[in-house]
Amino acid sequence: MASSKVKTAYKNFPADADFPDLSKHNNYMAKVLTKDIYSELRNKATPNGFTLDDVIQTGVDNPGHPFIMTVGCVAGDEETYEVFSKLMDPVIELRHGGFKKTDKHKTDLDASKLKGGDDLDPNYVFSSRVRTGRSIRGYSLPPHCSRDERRKVEKITVKALDQLDGELKGKYYPLDKMTEQEQNMLIENHFLFDKPVSPLLTCAGMARDWPDARGIWHNSHKNFLVWVNEEDHIRVISMQKGGNMKEVFQRFCTGLTKVEALMKNAGSEFMWNEHLGFVLTCPSNLGTGLRAGVHVKLPNLAKDEKRLDEILKKLRLQKRGTGGVDTASVGGVYDISNADRIGFSEVELVQAVIDGVKLLVEMEKKLEKDESIDALIPQ
Ligand code: ADP
Ligand code: MG
Repeated sequence: MASSKVKTAYKNFPADADFPDLSKHNNYMAKVLTKDIYSELRNKATPNGFTLDDVIQTGVDNPGHPFIMTVGCVAGDEETYEVFSKLMDPVIELRHGGFKKTDKHKTDLDASKLKGGDDLDPNYVFSSRVRTGRSIRGYSLPPHCSRDERRKVEKITVKALDQLDGELKGKYYPLDKMTEQEQNMLIENHFLFDKPVSPLLTCAGMARDWPDARGIWHNSHKNFLVWVNEEDHIRVISMQKGGNMKEVFQRFCTGLTKVEALMKNAGSEFMWNEHLGFVLTCPSNLGTGLRAGVHVKLPNLAKDEKRLDEILKKLRLQKRGTGGVDTASVGGVYDISNADRIGFSEVELVQAVIDGVKLLVEMEKKLEKDESIDALIPQ
């Protein structure tokens, strides 16, 4: 389908002469995109006018780091994954450990199925958090939405959230009505997304019109929070201090299910399909979109980061600094979370975090006593 919305300049210049220089790139898009795929897909656009060049721009502009593989492409709308499937399917397969285009995703938000998880040692686990993203069908995603679409997403979301009651009752705080100080406080206390300075975000067009129609909704305990129009239409978060991941996941499931029902009542639904699960902006988040994580103190394990990385890989976990995705660990405190998003249910992912973090804390305690952890390392 060659759409009229494809840039007219494309018609005057051959696709192979327009192929980006990806020779120094370390991201999944660059690994997959060949001249042939580029030529085939360049003249396509989604019904909303999102083109191949829009999909890959952030990956072209950000060659990446020799050791950190980024994804290198984004979706501008639900149809992006379909129209550009020749690029997106292999990227998804590489990023998600072999998840094939014929595979089906599964969802399970029944928190009662968790085994344990209310007892992560609070001397090590400072806080527990579960988040996901959701997109509202019919509206372009942050890399491509118009101002009006973005404001509509905000309106639909806040209208649903404002009907929550009991423990979940809360209020919306738009960024443009916040003082700089209030915003910084929320960021420092780990409640709010950072300002969009990362080139991964800005090059994908996600910071356009900032702070228009962005904000945070949270309940009075600040343990159920929703980010509006950051990297996804919405990010739903449950978090609290200490190591009771079970309680965090229970609140996450209850809150999320209620939000979905309230939106449905008002005629909106989330982008979802059997293959991709919940459709989100970044291919790395497809499926559950779920990241369950703890801030955990592991200073002895931190002394050998290579070994720690190997252990985390075996446990299918990842580490970050506690200041967010691009930050480094300070003083051996990490954000440890599930590495997978798709092909596993929400319950399975949270269970992997609970079991994995328990094991890491056990290892840390052994290292404190100068004992070997060899027997604890999973095979
Ligand atoms: P996300 O994947 O949700 O976008 P980021 O790594 O970008 O996560 O971090 C967003 C914010 O959430 C940061 O302020 C970070 O410190 C905070 N955060 C993430 N995990 C936890 C946790 N387990 N406890 C407290 N805060 C957290
Ligand atoms: Mg983030």
